[in-house]
Amino acid sequence: MAPQTGHLRDAMHHLRHARGLRSIINRRETNKRILIAEDDRVLADGLMRALRGTGAAVDHLASGSEADAALMTNREFDLLILDLGLPRMHGLEVLRNLRAGGSSLPVLILTAADSVDERVKGLDFGADDYMAKPFSLQELEARVRALLRRRMGGAGDVIRHGPLVYEQAGRVASIEGKMIDLSAREPGLLEVL
Ligand code: CA
Repeated sequence: MAPQTGHLRDAMHHLRHARGLRSIINRRETNKRILIAEDDRVLADGLMRALRGTGAAVDHLASGSEADAALMTNREFDLLILDLGLPRMHGLEVLRNLRAGGSSLPVLILTAADSVDERVKGLDFGADDYMAKPFSLQELEARVRALLRRRMGGAGDVIRHGPLVYEQAGRVASIEGKMIDLSAREPGLLEVL
C-alpha cells in the first residue's frame, strides 16, 4: 500500500466528522450575493424574483451613482448585473470605476438589443458577459450560474477542517501540509461527502 493511504484515511475521518461540511459546501453554491443595477422596475422585479428563487441574496439599486457607491464600499458581492442605460451615472462609467479599483467581480451587462457598440464597449471595459434586451430569464439564470461557477473555481475556494485542507479548484487535498495523492475517483468522493 502506498504511504498516502494513511493520509487518505485520515482525510476521510476528518470529513466524516466535519459536522455541517456538506451544508458549508451547499451554502457556497447557493448563498451568493448578487447586486442588480437596473432602473426598469418591472424588469428588476422579475430578475429579483428569478434569482432569489435560486437561493441567492439579491440587492437592487436603480441608479448608476448608487450602484457605484455600493460597489466602492461593499466587497461582499459575488456578481453584478448591470444595466448600461442607468440614470445619474452610465453603466459603462460604473464598470470602469469598478475595474479601475482593481475589482475582479463578475459583471453581466444588460444592453439594448440594437446596440452592438455598447456591448463591445462593455466587454472592452471588463464585463464578463452580456444579455441584450429583451432576454429570457431562463437564459439569464444559466449565464448567472456559469459566471458564479467560474468564480467558485477561483483560487479562494478552499475548505479547511482541522488539519485537512481541500482545494476544490485544483482538487488537491493535504493534511498538515502533506499532499494527499488523490486518484481520479477520490476527489469526487470528497465532494460528495
Ligand atoms: Ca435602463
